[in-house]
Amino acid sequence: MRNNQIYLNPSEMPTEYYNILPDMPEPMAMPLNPGTKQPISPEDLAPLFPEELIMQEMSPERFIKIPEEVLELYSLSRPTPVHRAYRLEEFLGTPAKIYFKYEGVNPAGSHKTNTAIAQTYYNKRAGVKKIVTETGAGQWGSALSIATQHFGMELEVFMVKVSYHQKPYRKTLMQLHGATVHASPTNLTNSGRQILEQDADSPGSLGIAISEAVEIAANSSDTNYSLGSVLNHVMLHQTIIGEEAKIQLAKVDEYPDIIIASAGGGSNFAGLSFPFLRDKLTGDKKDLRVIAVEPSSCPTLTKGKFAYDFGDTVGFTPLLKMFTLGHTFVPPAIHAGGLRYHGMAPTVSHLHKHGVIEAQNYHQIEVFDAARDFLTTEGILPAPESAHAIIAAITEAKKCKETGEAKTILFNLSGHGFLDLGAYDSYINNNLEDYKLPDEVIMRYFADLPVIEES
Ligand SMILES: *Cc1c(COP(=O)(O)O)cnc(C)c1O
Repeated sequence: MRNNQIYLNPSEMPTEYYNILPDMPEPMAMPLNPGTKQPISPEDLAPLFPEELIMQEMSPERFIKIPEEVLELYSLSRPTPVHRAYRLEEFLGTPAKIYFKYEGVNPAGSHKTNTAIAQTYYNKRAGVKKIVTETGAGQWGSALSIATQHFGMELEVFMVKVSYHQKPYRKTLMQLHGATVHASPTNLTNSGRQILEQDADSPGSLGIAISEAVEIAANSSDTNYSLGSVLNHVMLHQTIIGEEAKIQLAKVDEYPDIIIASAGGGSNFAGLSFPFLRDKLTGDKKDLRVIAVEPSSCPTLTKGKFAYDFGDTVGFTPLLKMFTLGHTFVPPAIHAGGLRYHGMAPTVSHLHKHGVIEAQNYHQIEVFDAARDFLTTEGILPAPESAHAIIAAITEAKKCKETGEAKTILFNLSGHGFLDLGAYDSYINNNLEDYKLPDEVIMRYFADLPVIEES
């Protein structure tokens, strides 16, 4: 029998996160205080985050020890397997070897628990009683609800309204874990009321939900805010994915030529790729190609601007230098495939700006076609977000078929799609549309970018 899955023993589990900051090609632009437009200090972040996460956000240390309690909770599902997609390779007739890291086995079905557990642990240690957050379709909120329940903390979630109504089951999962869930925009915050005054039927967006959650956390002493992607400490926690994958591939004498992951805020991409990028930035793997994949309807890396922008719609968060479509961007509601955030992690943006990584975008119907081919060959229903990585892997494998090269491709299957069957139902009934964000529309959102004088 062939070896489809490469497992690690718990004893082989990595015990440190990898921090890419010291290995960056150039120093990164500092986040700015939204009021003074000066570089932020740790105190600026103190109302929202515990000290240890603020330290991680700016840490110069290359490796950061994973706390014992965090490793213990990770052991519910980690180490996660690496699979060789033999049946997909045969279906494509490619000489390429396709491997994927499967994060869908985690509680709540995606990689997001990797940082939810770590963030909740550090907040608990800092004496915080309650966490408030936003969630789009509910992946992040449900991951966080598992962690807050475990550590005996309260959780309040602002869920983007269109998803709250279209995808109610993740809300149910959060509620089972004891969380309070609101459809955002709400009239519970100034931010929400401000949006509802402009548009009473606003479908909401991640940017709006972040404004609501940050407002609550900033105004309460025992409550902190938690973000599921974008920030440096989130990327850091996700590197457990790539650190494991490296050991797993080494067991079969492999090292990838191409690494692929979907990119919404950048965390599953960073998580898989950064430990390998260490070898490209500081070692001999100069030819390693690393590809971030996004939807054509929200083309942040491929069409966005590299500029200072807010992480939220109202403008509470620090200004981050990143690829962005503009913080006022509201994604089209017809889009079923996730990955709808206006910005991109500053670390991922910086690497793209310096040509270390590549970015591609695909239309949603071809993404769902790839998801179906993956399901029917490998037997796993992917999250639509993860299917963006699948289509890019298939595209690269088909190129190998043309050139006859047996490249090794590794992609991140960031989650399963069992709570996305509504989107798959639309797909098989031909109710999905392709939507490419027109350049004129992008230019209009760019006009709202904050004006920052940079020396
Ligand atoms: C949230 C999510 C993503 C996108 O977020 P990143 O921070 O870019 O990883 C991708 N895949 C799945 C399954 C998700 O839940």
